[in-house]
Amino acid sequence: MKKPYEKETICIQSGWKPKNGEPRVLPIYQSTTFKYETSEQMGRLFDLEEEGYFYTRLQNPTNDCVAEKICELEGGVAAMLTSSGQAANYYAVFNICEAGDHVVLSSTVYGGTFNLIANTMKKMGISCSIVDPDDDYDTICKAFRENTKCVLAETIANPALVVLDIEKFAKAAHAHHVPLIVDNTFATPINCNPFRWGADIVTHSTTKYMDGHAMCVGGAIVDSGNFDWTLYPDKFPGLCTPDETYHGIVYTEKFGRKAYITKATSQLMRDLGSIPSPMNSFLLNVGLETLHLRVPRHCENAQKVAEYLEDHEKVAWVNYPGLKSNKYYELAQKYMPNGTCGVISFGLKGGRSAAESLMDKLELAAIVTHVADARTCVLHPASHTHRQMNDEQLKEAGVNPDLIRFSVGLENADDIIADLEQALSRI
Ligand code: PLP
Repeated sequence: MKKPYEKETICIQSGWKPKNGEPRVLPIYQSTTFKYETSEQMGRLFDLEEEGYFYTRLQNPTNDCVAEKICELEGGVAAMLTSSGQAANYYAVFNICEAGDHVVLSSTVYGGTFNLIANTMKKMGISCSIVDPDDDYDTICKAFRENTKCVLAETIANPALVVLDIEKFAKAAHAHHVPLIVDNTFATPINCNPFRWGADIVTHSTTKYMDGHAMCVGGAIVDSGNFDWTLYPDKFPGLCTPDETYHGIVYTEKFGRKAYITKATSQLMRDLGSIPSPMNSFLLNVGLETLHLRVPRHCENAQKVAEYLEDHEKVAWVNYPGLKSNKYYELAQKYMPNGTCGVISFGLKGGRSAAESLMDKLELAAIVTHVADARTCVLHPASHTHRQMNDEQLKEAGVNPDLIRFSVGLENADDIIADLEQALSRI
């Protein structure tokens, strides 16, 4: 049997595979709709009897090629793109949860995800229990209930940079007959494949490293195909019993290991419609072609910057899982031996006011609400994303008032350090 391609080759070659005389580069199918010769053919597509395109809200060839590349990078069986990372996490959970159900959620997930699950989905009748990712196995198990349908956590949490013990979480989820969903945005499939460690479904905000150039908001969901829904038909009726909106199709019977993604595409995309534009998917694909080159360089630069900051007399603390002094160093070595991510957080001895002052003195690092793109950028959550909170509320939310989030880009590391040096010397 032919050896599967390595990630470098997948980044470049997967997805679009042109046939004789077709364009070498992934075409942008900028069309809402697709033409058929007979009415019967179109009918078969609507019945999910045949594969094919009919309306871009459900599926589009450009989007599908890019989803396939991400699927291969993660080692999954099926994947879909969404118009944002928020939509990806929403669909990933809502595909198997309905009113009356319950989710186990890691406390350190990205604020947008936390809000989505803890507040917005609560209004839809879906409740959650919050667990500390550092809790031991038995404590995590206490959060599960009869109506729990999934567990959601992040490989490397944004912005807390907590590294998830994926095996511990997978074991707890499986002991309670539910899948583990892991948001792998910060690690990317270059540094970590959560499926290898027992996760069942992976999500991404492709807005970050996958795009890598801060051009397009986007998301992705990948299914490992490993979670056997048919063992628990009462827990997952949406996958194991007839879907009357699709002529009584039972997704697990008809689509096997691809049931979860087929259901999310044919039900959730159909009804909620968060599809990316083909143009954005084309740009995402250009980003993916260099993901394997960019991610190691982000990590290399971040390591140098973190070590520089750790030695600086004005710096009070540095949080980066690549530092030997870091609480998560061992876990990071286990799950991401080649590097974690390019994001660092740190605080200054001068506290909140010094953090505010540093922001204005940086020249190369730009103040933006973003992380994980080619250009170094910086944010002071207490002054920006979390500015409505007082110092006490900030601490409760796990965001120190002095925390500076620094996303190390692909510039020369010495230039990034020189920028920090000149700014630190003036505060
Ligand atoms: N997941 C993580 C880990 C994120 O950092 C973000 C955004 O910062 C999201 C999801 C949401 O993604 P998007 O902004 O693409 O909707």
